[in-house]
Amino acid sequence: MGKSYREELVGVFGYPVDENPTVVVAQTAFEDLQVPYRYLTVEVKPEDLKEAIRALPAWNMKGIHLTIPHKVEVLKYLDYVAEDAKIMGAVNTVYVKEGKLYGENTDGKGFIKSLVNAGISIKDKKVFMLGAGGAARAIAVELANAGAKELVILNRSRTRGEELKALLEAHTKLKAEYREWKHTMPIDEDTDILVNTTSIGLYPDVNAKPDIVFDTIKEHMIVCDVIPNHPHTQLLKEAEKRNAVTIDGLGMLINQAVESIRMWTGKTADAEKMKNALAKEYGITDV
Ligand code: NDP
Repeated sequence: MGKSYREELVGVFGYPVDENPTVVVAQTAFEDLQVPYRYLTVEVKPEDLKEAIRALPAWNMKGIHLTIPHKVEVLKYLDYVAEDAKIMGAVNTVYVKEGKLYGENTDGKGFIKSLVNAGISIKDKKVFMLGAGGAARAIAVELANAGAKELVILNRSRTRGEELKALLEAHTKLKAEYREWKHTMPIDEDTDILVNTTSIGLYPDVNAKPDIVFDTIKEHMIVCDVIPNHPHTQLLKEAEKRNAVTIDGLGMLINQAVESIRMWTGKTADAEKMKNALAKEYGITDV
């Protein structure tokens, strides 16, 4: 048999998408796994999403990632959506099987994995969460699946915060409380895990800090951030000063990609090699 030049296609649809770095992570994984996969970074405008998604089987593509602004809209065009992604109301990964489109959300799973990898159990833990946006929804639903006991949601906009609380109450057993974020807020002393899911600290605003009383972060707390760039955020620095264990957002980003790659290739990629490739791409030396 002759040499095959054919490649299996996957990628990301977004708008804008130019600065999405997932191709670096994915190609590192594919080369390491020695599979002939190609990750495409594709600009798809909102009005073209339906046709672009519906065309995946015609291109014999294995699947696609969705990023801004497609994660919610895409649900309409899929044949099957995983139960947790339905609850979140957002899909970040589509895979194609026998011509059908399956939707999943690996963002929250990636977050949970970064805790599990650090030997942290979520069962019966009280979680204090900053933010109630898309990342928060994905994380909250997976926290519920992982058996967390209680969740405090601190968010500026009341509507989003209350929506998330209602969604958790309707679909999960997690006890959730919403608090309006109006001023410098303390963290409850009995918090086990504090997580920032807001965009505070995202490049280029790397000096931004969430408006909380940092002295209420205690040594017994696990403090997590979802910000991938720069991952060593001001929140994590404040937590380190108070001897809390910290988990950065790079792990979440890598782990969600590992999950998606497993759905597309059936293989488990090397998270450490992917993380190093991304850190190098970002020019990060202190992870
Ligand atoms: P959304 O726009 O859906 O939500 C943003 C959230 O941040 C809202 O709760 C918003 O509050 C809050 N927020 C923003 N600015 C402030 C501020 N100055 N003070 C208080 N609250 C603020 O975004 P996503 O949830 O999709 O993304 C959030 C972050 O998570 C991004 O930085 C993204 O890069 C990161 N992320 C990381 C991933 C990873 O793999 N590491 C995966 C997915 C996302 P309000 O409702 O009041 O506006």
